[in-house]
Amino acid sequence: MAKIALNFEDGFTRFIECRSAETLAEASYRVGINIPLDCSNGACGTCKCRVQSGEYDGGDYIEEALTEAEAAEGLALACQMQPKTNLVVDIFASSEVCKTKGQTFQARLRSVDRLSDTTIAFSLEGAGSLSFLPGQYVNVLVPGTDQRRSYSFSSPPGADTQSFLVRDIQPGLMSTFLREKAQPGAAIEFVGPSGSFYLREIRRPLLFLAGGTGLAPFLSMLGRIAETGTAGHPVNLVYGVTNDVDLVGVDQLQAFAERIPGFTFTTCVAARDSGHPRKGFVMAHMDRAYLNGGDVDVYLCGPPAMVDAVRAWLNEQGVTPANFHYEKFSPSGAVTTIGETHRAAA
Ligand SMILES: Cc1cc2nc3c(=O)[nH]c(=O)nc-3n(C[C@H](O)[C@H](O)[C@H](O)COP(=O)(O)OP(=O)(O)OC[C@H]3O[C@@H](n4cnc5c(N)ncnc54)[C@H](O)[C@@H]3O)c2cc1C
Repeated sequence: MAKIALNFEDGFTRFIECRSAETLAEASYRVGINIPLDCSNGACGTCKCRVQSGEYDGGDYIEEALTEAEAAEGLALACQMQPKTNLVVDIFASSEVCKTKGQTFQARLRSVDRLSDTTIAFSLEGAGSLSFLPGQYVNVLVPGTDQRRSYSFSSPPGADTQSFLVRDIQPGLMSTFLREKAQPGAAIEFVGPSGSFYLREIRRPLLFLAGGTGLAPFLSMLGRIAETGTAGHPVNLVYGVTNDVDLVGVDQLQAFAERIPGFTFTTCVAARDSGHPRKGFVMAHMDRAYLNGGDVDVYLCGPPAMVDAVRAWLNEQGVTPANFHYEKFSPSGAVTTIGETHRAAA
C-alpha cells in the first residue's frame, strides 16, 4: 500500500492510499477523486500528472500521450502508472474540478505559549487522520467568527500534536484570540492541508531563508529531515527577524543542529539598535558558498516584503538555483500569491 499526496492546482492536498497493482487513477476514483481522465489506456494524455517525489512504474502508453522527454522530467500518466513507494503528485486541475476539496478537521487547543512579546505558539490535538507535507499550511477558523487565517505547521507530519508559530499583531483577529481568549480544550476547526511550499526530495544542498514566523515551515521540514537525513547534502538556514524580541525557536534550531549532520543555522536582526552580533537582513549574512554555484534548492518564507527583497537580491547575484520555492505570509484579505513554487529549467 503506497500513500499518495495529490496536490491540486488550487493549493489543496488530499492523501489517498494506492493498493498494490492499482493505478493512480484507479485509486483516486475508488475514493471519489475524479482526476482528469479520458481514454484510460495510455493513448490520450488527459491524465498527465507530475510526480514530485517517489518511485513508480510508468506503465504502457504511446508516445503521443507522453513523450520520452516528458517522462524523463517526471511526468506520468495516472491511468497507467503504479506507485512503488509513497508519492507526491501534482494533478493539473483544481480540487473542485476533481470533485474533491480540502478536508475539514475538528481539533482541540492543547497549549498556547507566549514565546516573546511578539510571538505566540499554539498546538492542537485530536485532529484524527491528518496528513500533510512538511512546509504546508492550514486555514484555521478563528473561534467565534466566520474568518479564517492561514498558519504553517511548525511540527513535522506524523506527530501526535500539531504546532504553529504566530506573530502577535495587536489588532489582529487571530492574534487577539490567542492573546486574550484561547484556553486549552477550546474547539478549533481548520481546513487543509494546502500549499506547494513543502520539502522535496533532497538531491543537492539546501538553502533555507526564513523571515520572522516564516521560520514555522522550516521547523516542520527540519523535523522531517531529522528523521530521514539529508542524503549527505548540507542544509543551511539563515533566519532573520526585525527586532531582538522576534527571535524565537533558537533552542529548537540548536537541537536540530546537534541532531542533523550537515545542518547549520545563522540568525540576524534588522533593527539598528539591536544588541545581536549580526545586524541587517538575511542577505548580509548569507555565505556565498551556500549558493553552491547554483546547484542548490532554495526555500524562502516570510513576510511579503522580505520575500520580495530576497528574491531581488538572489536575481542580482546572477545565480539561478536548481529549484526555488517561496511562500509569502501575506496578511489576510490581501491580494496574495500563496505557496508559489518555481522550478528552473531542468
Ligand atoms: C500561506 C500562509 C501561511 C501563513 N502562515 C503563518 C504562520 O505560520 N505564522 C504567522 O504568524 N502568520 C502566518 N500567515 C499570516 C496569517 O495568516 C495572518 O494573516 C496573520 O497571523 C494575521 O492574522 P490576524 O487575524 O492576527 O490579523 P488580521 O485580523 O488579519 O489583521 C489585523 C491588521 O493587521 C494587519 N496585519 C496583518 N498581518 C500583518 C503583519 N504580518 N504585519 C503587520 N501588520 C499586519 C492587517 O493588514 C490588518 O490591518 C500566513 C499567511 C499565509 C498566506
